[in-house]
Amino acid sequence: MVKVTLDNITKRFGDFEALKRVSLEIADKEFMALLGPSGSGKSTLLYTIAGIYRPTSGRIYFDGRDVTDVPPKDRNVGLVFQNWALYPHMKVFDNIAFPLELRKAPKDEIAKKVREVAGMLHIENLLDRYPWQLSGGQQQRVAIARALVKEPDVLLLDEPLSNLDALLRLEVRAELKRLQKELGITAVYVTHDQAEALAMADRIAVIKEGVILQVGSPDDVYYRPKYRFVGGFLGSPP
Ligand code: ADP
Ligand code: MG
Repeated sequence: MVKVTLDNITKRFGDFEALKRVSLEIADKEFMALLGPSGSGKSTLLYTIAGIYRPTSGRIYFDGRDVTDVPPKDRNVGLVFQNWALYPHMKVFDNIAFPLELRKAPKDEIAKKVREVAGMLHIENLLDRYPWQLSGGQQQRVAIARALVKEPDVLLLDEPLSNLDALLRLEVRAELKRLQKELGITAVYVTHDQAEALAMADRIAVIKEGVILQVGSPDDVYYRPKYRFVGGFLGSPP
C-alpha cells in the first residue's frame, strides 16, 4: 500500500527552483528519511507534503486521493519542528490537547487521549508544568506527543532532534522509532545527519539541490551509492 505519492513536484520561490520534478512513493507504515545537506530542499519538500506550501506544479496523493488543493488542517498530518514551538503560555497538558480542542472533541475524550500519549512518551508526570520548566528533551517529547495525539495519517518531522545533546538524541531517537512501529504510523523524517538516517529509516531518499538522487534501504544507499555525492555524503566505504 502506498500512503503518500509525490508526482513530479516542482516548487519555485520566484526564479529559484527549490524542488525539481520530485517523484517519490512512501509506503504505509514506512519510516522514510529525507537526507541531504543544508539548503537541499528537505524542509520545502516536507512542508509541501504537509500542505503548508503549494507545489508550483505536480500532484500529491494520500492513499491515492489527490490532496494537492487540500489545506493542511484537513490532511491529518502531525508536524514536529526542530525548535519544538510549544505554546509558552500553556501547560504541557494543554499543549498536547490543543489539536483535539481545535477539533472540538469532548473534554473527557481529550483528557484520556492526552494521558495515553503522555504515557507512551514518559511525560505523564509533566502535564502540569509550563514548557519553560522542562529540559530540551522533555520539550521535544511534548512536541512529539502533540503531533501524535490526533492519530495522524502521516507524521512529518523536520530535524526534530538536532537541538538535543548527543546522548539525549540517541535516547529520543530509539523511542521515536519504537513508537512509530508500535503505532504503525507512516513517518517522513528530515535530517542532514547520515548516521541518524541509517539508524532509523526503512528507506532513505537522498536529496541534493532539489533533486532526489537515490531512494533505497540504508544498505542500498550506503553500500551501493549511485552517485559519488551519495557515497561521499553517507561516508560509504570506497
Ligand atoms: P533544507 O531544509 O534542506 O535545508 P530548504 O527546503 O529549507 O532546505 O531550502 C531549500 C532552498 O530553498 C534554499 O536555497 C532556501 O534558501 C530556499 N527557500 C526555502 N524556503 C524559501 C522561501 N520561503 N522563499 C525563498 N526561498 C526559500
Ligand atoms: Mg530544513
